[in-house]
Amino acid sequence: MATIVEPGKRPDVKHTKCFINGEWVDAASGKTFETVCPATENTIAEVAEGDKEDVARAATAAREAFENGPWSRMDARDRGRLMYKFADLMEQELDQLAMLESWDNGKPLRDSRAADVPLAIDCIRYYAGLADKIQGDTVPIRGNYFCYTRREPVGVVGQIIPWNFPMLMTAWKWGPALAAGCTIVMKPAEQTPLTCLRMAQLAKDAGIPDGVINVIPGFGPTAGGACVENPDIDKIAFTGEHITAQIIMKNAAQTLKRLTFELGGKSPNIIFADADFEAAVKGAHFGLFFNQGQCCCAGSRVFVEDSVHDQFINRIGEMNEKRKVGDPFDMATEQGPQVDKAQFDKIMGFIEKGKEQGADCVTGGNRVGDKGFFIEPTVFDNVTDDMDIAQKEIFGPVMSVLKFSDVDEVIERGNNTFYGLAAAVWTKDVKKAHHMAAKLRAGTVWVNCYDVFDAAAPFGGFKMSGIGRELGIRGIDAYTESKTVTVAL
Ligand code: ADP
Repeated sequence: MATIVEPGKRPDVKHTKCFINGEWVDAASGKTFETVCPATENTIAEVAEGDKEDVARAATAAREAFENGPWSRMDARDRGRLMYKFADLMEQELDQLAMLESWDNGKPLRDSRAADVPLAIDCIRYYAGLADKIQGDTVPIRGNYFCYTRREPVGVVGQIIPWNFPMLMTAWKWGPALAAGCTIVMKPAEQTPLTCLRMAQLAKDAGIPDGVINVIPGFGPTAGGACVENPDIDKIAFTGEHITAQIIMKNAAQTLKRLTFELGGKSPNIIFADADFEAAVKGAHFGLFFNQGQCCCAGSRVFVEDSVHDQFINRIGEMNEKRKVGDPFDMATEQGPQVDKAQFDKIMGFIEKGKEQGADCVTGGNRVGDKGFFIEPTVFDNVTDDMDIAQKEIFGPVMSVLKFSDVDEVIERGNNTFYGLAAAVWTKDVKKAHHMAAKLRAGTVWVNCYDVFDAAAPFGGFKMSGIGRELGIRGIDAYTESKTVTVAL
């Protein structure tokens, strides 16, 4: 199936080692792990398996670069210029980076090219422009004093990211950290380390000093856990599951690290009968099936008002019949494989559970082919709020459709989850739209659109979906400490 296995079509895998203090080095243990192409199940490369000792070396290099290197002290405008250069180098390699991303993750190349890589570049540029705009306040206090605040970099930051948007998550983490003058120890996801490693080299080529960015590929509890516990690291920025965040929070207590979390979701996507129906169906389809359903903000609970429900089910079914699932490197492909066997099995388990608990599987529900982790785009109708497929994050191409008949009812049911990452509303009624936007307990509410992301727009979760916000001007806050200076006059 996948043309990518043909020699000559493979992108170069230039880096598979740990990146510490500007150099490529083996893991101290000498161990490696396989990164696998989810479309073919073939091994792409053996990657250094970093662990505690490697994290310690990276943290020492990052600490040294922070305390004694030029990065945090250089003119912020120069920091910005190096970041622009880094973004330019990424842009020059856009095609190669997109191929590498699709090979390692399985996502369709047309998505990597159109979304992942350009959005990552845009994010680095956004924060390059912000580097020289980080400023404090002058504070009118009582008495004869001059009081002001300075915003200083938080120090060495540990960053732990998932596999669903490897490059983009790297950019979301590096952008604000670099702009603020922090130094970095990054732990990419074990499923998808390759593009993050390539980005580290491009950052070096752009002139970002050695030790500012360090990357330790490896597994969560070992390499990730070591970042959380290392006393040289001041902060952890984590994106992943809430259960992992709970472990991180507990393990970070010893060193009282600053923590920001962007976690999962079970986002309600609410379609009123008065919406532009075709736009709403397309938005609901995109909002769930984009990226093989592997989005923390996926609109996985689609609430459809009674009177348009049957029409919705028919139209979504038609769209799924035409959906092209297969080789990520075929530019016509709309849906690739899930990232790995563990995710594939988990999703198939949810599909079984949905059937068992009495929901109607109206489209899909099966594996595609017998090689690679492909799953048919799947829709469950007549889902009730208490079913597992309405409560738990599936992280796959599985849509749950729920009927509703009333505004207050759908607000209550939409909010009836411990998550609060995103929500969407489809209606032509402006009053209803703003009312819903105010009432839905989520960090992002999209109105008549879905998955609209921009480096300038803050993103993060209410409730168990996270702590803090990434992106936007205030995305820098999590990478700075505020210092109050008071001068007697
Ligand atoms: P997912 O199910 O999407 O893989 P995880 O939360 O398990 O979500 O993983 C997200 C990131 O967190 C990955 O880089 C993973 O290696 C890392 N991770 C997993 N467990 C831990 C842990 N105990 N401590 C630190 N990082 C972890």
